[in-house]
Amino acid sequence: MYRSRYSKEVTQKDYDKQVTVAGWIEDIRNLGSIAFIILRDGKGTLQITVLKKKTPELFEQLTSFSRESVVSVKGLCKENEKVRNGYEILPEEVEILSAAETPLPLGVVDKVEADFDTRLDNRFIDLRKPEIQAIFKIRNVVIAAAHQYLRSQSFIEVHTPNIIPSSSEGGTEVFKLQYFEKEAFLAQSPQLYKQSLMATGLDRVYEIAWYFRAEEHNTRRHLNESTAVDLEMAYISSEEDVMKILENLVHSMWKSASECKEELEILDKKIAIPKLPFARMPYDEVIHKLHERKSGIEWGQDLGAEDEKLLGEIMKEGGKEFYFITRYPLGSKPFYTMPEGEKYSRGFDLECKGVEIASGSQRIHDVKLLKKRLGACGLNPKDFEAYLKAFRYGMPPHGGFGFGIERFLMELLDIKNIRECILFPRDRTRLTP
Ligand code: ATP
Ligand code: MG
Repeated sequence: MYRSRYSKEVTQKDYDKQVTVAGWIEDIRNLGSIAFIILRDGKGTLQITVLKKKTPELFEQLTSFSRESVVSVKGLCKENEKVRNGYEILPEEVEILSAAETPLPLGVVDKVEADFDTRLDNRFIDLRKPEIQAIFKIRNVVIAAAHQYLRSQSFIEVHTPNIIPSSSEGGTEVFKLQYFEKEAFLAQSPQLYKQSLMATGLDRVYEIAWYFRAEEHNTRRHLNESTAVDLEMAYISSEEDVMKILENLVHSMWKSASECKEELEILDKKIAIPKLPFARMPYDEVIHKLHERKSGIEWGQDLGAEDEKLLGEIMKEGGKEFYFITRYPLGSKPFYTMPEGEKYSRGFDLECKGVEIASGSQRIHDVKLLKKRLGACGLNPKDFEAYLKAFRYGMPPHGGFGFGIERFLMELLDIKNIRECILFPRDRTRLTP
């Protein structure tokens, strides 16, 4: 066996007993007659102490390894108050499992921070850093909380195709691909499929979805491949029913993150749980507030990054980090958004600290209106025949949202760049690793 205990699992019961540990050699301090080897195992670090006089061969072996080599060490676990985790391992047997080449493309514990591209080029090493790993451990916890909350509300998890035949739901650029003799596209979201499911009796569905978007932006909050909690629910009376689910979902995810004590400590972060319900502010009021602060935004426009940021500052002054923008102008929302009169829609965004984290709406369920809106948005109903068919034979009222997981993590942990929140980011120039 290569490992009987992780560094974190060693307890007083192990003292004066033999344990086997395994991991990466983080550091070697060779003082001549004694050497301290710091071993990192994915949960923490521990110290191996080797005396030249007592075990000259092991001393030679352990001090000659290159940093980041993977080893397994069997030895006696000794209590030692001077060592950070209260014990050390006195080695009896050492096995090298994989020698690391030198020099390392990226240091794991170096004081100087490598530039972001070097880190991403060597993501497998970057991820050895506890503060980077912590982001993904929290990501795992918040996604588990999302599953738990949504299932408790009778939502079922579904998986819809990512390779799709029609070019677009409008609004964003899509990636084209060759599907045998046909042209196909990567889905920008599961929108059309999750709506089709509303015609089936699977009244509440969600998907942890991949979004593929071929937009050439290069910002701190856009990826070309991202993930989202995407949800649709039937028999709603208005978009308010959807907003209630969304705010409770966000709340339960935020709360689950606040319980990740170890990871938050590593990241030196405190998380305050937001109060429910979140504020709801009609678009018109938002425009009014922005104009008061000299924004040049015109009525009907979608909020740009600068306006979103300004609104974030305004809301923060009122002690609000989360807020919905509701009743968007019809023209600024996708074709499937339910109109509210001539000018407005039942579309909303959820914002967190000046960044959009989710968009949703009540959807149109009347096929005639849907065709009309497709036309008004410059799209050809012919391209949407398979989708429209699902509306022709009985479609209940419904609504839903798409809620970006990386955007959420970014705001949760105050991370400046969204690329930090996904393992292997895809952006305008990055396709590897
Ligand atoms: P934005 O206006 O911020 O570019 P959007 O309105 O185009 O986003 P939606 O189509 O509403 O995005 O997608 C729903 C959610 O998915 C967004 O609120 C966001 O959290 C996330 N999302 C959308 N596009 C991206 C992207 N390119 N990178 C990361 N997350 C995204
Ligand atoms: Mg949006």
